[in-house]
Amino acid sequence: MRIILMGPPGAGKGTQGERLVEELKIPHISTGDMFRRAMTEGTQLGKKAREYMEKGELVPDEVTIGIVKERLLADDCQTGFMLDGFPRTVPQADALDKLLNEINQELDAVIYIRMPEEDLISRMTGRRVCRQCGATYHSVFAPPKAAGVCDKCQGEVYQREDDKIDTVENRLKVYLKNTQPLIDFYKEKGLLKEIDGNQDMEMVFKDIGRSLGRKW
Ligand code: ADP
Ligand code: AMP
Repeated sequence: MRIILMGPPGAGKGTQGERLVEELKIPHISTGDMFRRAMTEGTQLGKKAREYMEKGELVPDEVTIGIVKERLLADDCQTGFMLDGFPRTVPQADALDKLLNEINQELDAVIYIRMPEEDLISRMTGRRVCRQCGATYHSVFAPPKAAGVCDKCQGEVYQREDDKIDTVENRLKVYLKNTQPLIDFYKEKGLLKEIDGNQDMEMVFKDIGRSLGRKW
């Protein structure tokens, strides 16, 4: 299965994505995670991405498209994948279409997790992430069992720099301007599955399953 997870920052893409890829047995391709990994490793890509991420801006299309293309051509993506946080601009969506055409693959669904704007700020500022395995927590809605320690791997649970209040508002602005137009782009292609993200995590997961014709 080839799917895209879309939605504003904080909607629950990463949270749902973790469970979806487990059920569907497909690779989870999160461009945000790829950039964060590169930043930790201190690579050229990481240095470039940092300039944009710390301001809540988008990493330039040519850089982002390049890393996604390379990833999608890898062996483990040939029978399916889940894209999380990509595409985020019309040129990225066009580039994805072109690549999938070239390699004779088609998207099955675009899952759009809808959330009221006013609830996104607390979702983002409360988000906590494991530095080691990337697992997602929330300081209020889904805290780790021991403060600051990942339940899954005992790694350090921290707050992303771009989840601090100063950056969060710009990320929402950037989403509305650049990414929201993609909802119509995929609606017109008949691929869009709209999911209410403003319910508990279990219900969101069930709704996503239903939209894909799965019962879990
Ligand atoms: P995204 O990947 O779309 O930016 P995340 O999956 O990282 O969003 O979720 C943002 C924050 O909101 C995280 O702290 C996560 O634990 C929390 N969260 C996700 N889904 C829900 C939900 N249905 N109810 C409450 N909190 C949620
Ligand atoms: P995320 O982890 O999806 O919240 O993304 C964190 C940050 O990474 C974003 O605010 C952008 O700076 C950058 N980023 C992630 N995905 C993309 C993308 N598809 N295009 C451009 N920048 C991206």
